[in-house]
Amino acid sequence: MIPAQFDYVAPESLDEALSALQSDEEAKVLAGGHSLVPLMKLRLAAPSLLVDLRRVPDLTGIERENGGWRIGAMTTHFAVSHGGLGLVSTAAGTIADPQVRYRGTIGGSLAHGDPASDMPAVLLAAGGSVVVRSAQPPGEREVPADALFQDYLTTAVSGGEILTSVRLPALDGYGFGYQKFNRRKEDWAMVAVCALVKKGADGSCEDVRIGLTHMGSTPLRATAAEQALQGRGLDAQTIAVAAEQAAEGTEPPADLNATAEYKRHLARVLCRRALEQASQ
Ligand SMILES: Cc1cc2nc3c(=O)[nH]c(=O)nc-3n(C[C@H](O)[C@H](O)[C@H](O)COP(=O)(O)OP(=O)(O)OC[C@H]3O[C@@H](n4cnc5c(N)ncnc54)[C@H](O)[C@@H]3O)c2cc1C
Repeated sequence: MIPAQFDYVAPESLDEALSALQSDEEAKVLAGGHSLVPLMKLRLAAPSLLVDLRRVPDLTGIERENGGWRIGAMTTHFAVSHGGLGLVSTAAGTIADPQVRYRGTIGGSLAHGDPASDMPAVLLAAGGSVVVRSAQPPGEREVPADALFQDYLTTAVSGGEILTSVRLPALDGYGFGYQKFNRRKEDWAMVAVCALVKKGADGSCEDVRIGLTHMGSTPLRATAAEQALQGRGLDAQTIAVAAEQAAEGTEPPADLNATAEYKRHLARVLCRRALEQASQ
């Protein structure tokens, strides 16, 4: 439970933080530390240098940007949960316990890319993106959610880069539902499903986006269920038929809590409930 030896810096600007990262190939960014530090204590990660972002200005806060939302990477789960961002705030409020929500950050969760985390599937379903800065080559790039999550704990944010903000479309007119199944309220999701539904003037489904948490090595969209609902009525029977397809094409990892088949069952049930919530 004691990490390997490491150096630590807490730079006061983004440029300093980027050059500290450049100075050491084994350096890692430290945000809330609620994923990285446990890994270091288990010696599953052994960075030689931690570059703490907590003193870097302009990395926190939620603001309107180009008709959507910009969330600073160091914004805590607690702040996001109280940010009035619909689905995103609701999902952030289910993360662990207050201790984790006060320290853990949205940028840390997305850069880490744990498929059991709540935010990755929400970003994917919402069609959001992240903004990433690097020193070498110098510049900034925007990575859409469907290109961000590459494999288990592997994202498109490379070692020398810093995720600076998260961009979300406003999704005005969408209803949302969030369903997370775990044994204890503060646990990680065994499976979670988020749904965004836009109703047309006749009450039918004009658009639907469904995100799956912990149903594979990355967050997923339930595309078969989406296609089954698109353009159809939003009555209980149609939703139930669409939700039956929630686990199509998924290969959920079995673990101590659930077999793969049980996770598929959870995905179908939670998808139905999330769609019902989103369609109200
Ligand atoms: C007991 C417990 C229960 C938890 N339960 C849940 C849960 O139910 N749902 C959930 O979603 N999460 C859960 N978490 C994880 C928590 O949400 C973490 O806060 C989050 O996964 C990582 O955010 P962080 O700010 O702590 O990142 P850190 O731990 O500091 O960093 C994580 C990784 O991301 C990198 N990184 C961090 N920030 C940046 C950045 N801005 N740019 C580039 N790279 C960066 C780091 O180098 C590191 O590799 C839990 C954690 C604990 C300890």
